[in-house]
Amino acid sequence: MIAVLKANASQERCDMLITWLKKQGLAVHVSKGENQTVLGLVGDTASVDTDMLSSLDIVEKVTVVSDPFKAAGRKFHPDDSVIEIGDRGVKIGGGNFAVIAGPGCIESPEQLSGITDSVKTSGAGILFGGAFLPRSSPYDFQGLGAEGIQILTAEKKRSGIPVITEIKDIRSLPLFEDVDIIQVGARNTQNFDLLSELGGINKPILLKRGPACTIRELLMSAEYIIARGNDRVILCERGICSFDNAYLRDVLDISAIPLLHKLTHLPVVMDPCHAIRRASMIEPMAKAAVAAGADGLIIEVHNDPVHSRSGATQAITPDRFSEMMKKIQKLREVL
Ligand code: PEP
Ligand code: MN
Repeated sequence: MIAVLKANASQERCDMLITWLKKQGLAVHVSKGENQTVLGLVGDTASVDTDMLSSLDIVEKVTVVSDPFKAAGRKFHPDDSVIEIGDRGVKIGGGNFAVIAGPGCIESPEQLSGITDSVKTSGAGILFGGAFLPRSSPYDFQGLGAEGIQILTAEKKRSGIPVITEIKDIRSLPLFEDVDIIQVGARNTQNFDLLSELGGINKPILLKRGPACTIRELLMSAEYIIARGNDRVILCERGICSFDNAYLRDVLDISAIPLLHKLTHLPVVMDPCHAIRRASMIEPMAKAAVAAGADGLIIEVHNDPVHSRSGATQAITPDRFSEMMKKIQKLREVL
């Protein structure tokens, strides 16, 4: 249920109403827009007397929301969410565009610093580095783990760039203290216990869409995080299963971007690399995502993709990334 408050409602009256609604056992999500305040109510709303609520002089209207996702939904929060990353002014969402780039697998401090310097110069705002890798085979290289995160956060200190890496197991959370965004990978989109735990922390979460997850399931997974109190969630489309094996893996669902923007206030970024797994197709799909309204991109950049210890076919070189970024910049100016 949502209650839209009148533009002239005083802060004191709003606070009184919120306190009263909380006493009824409801969670209240407050969204202050430029012209109006929207109260999103979650819980046993059947017990709320909607006629009484609508008749209050500070209430403009009361609407029952039938969507299963509430706090993630645009009805609860009409304006785009803007998520601040780190403490150097990087933002995603609401017109703020950010590119996340780096190696799928951190291999050494030297490898990472070379990549950091070049992607930063090309305009990436956030550094990605894989430490705990979600590999399909237990016999493949699993990443440097804790050592990888140390290399990544040392790189953040050296260069000043905010960093993102994936968590697979909640028990490793203490290692992520200096990480700016925690990624939940496509294999964990519906790991509800992990999502709930991440809802209890004060850090942005990048939630990838599982290849077999519907848009609704993705939004319900975001709801798991927000319901626990952490509303800094960034959604990421990265390809979904298809019947067509002409693609090396998944099909990038570009249409997810405008649809998600309609349904949710959360920022939506696109990762073209993990779906298509062909370096030659990363740039066209990145451009398509930008044209479709993505709030950001995730691009795997490796100094020597062919010899990368994971994802050799899906990363581009720093030079190619630099060329792509120039085109993305021009495309954004045109848009
Ligand atoms: C990754 O980001 O390195 C990754 C494995 O991606 P996904 O979870 O989308 O497959
Ligand atoms: Mn990867």
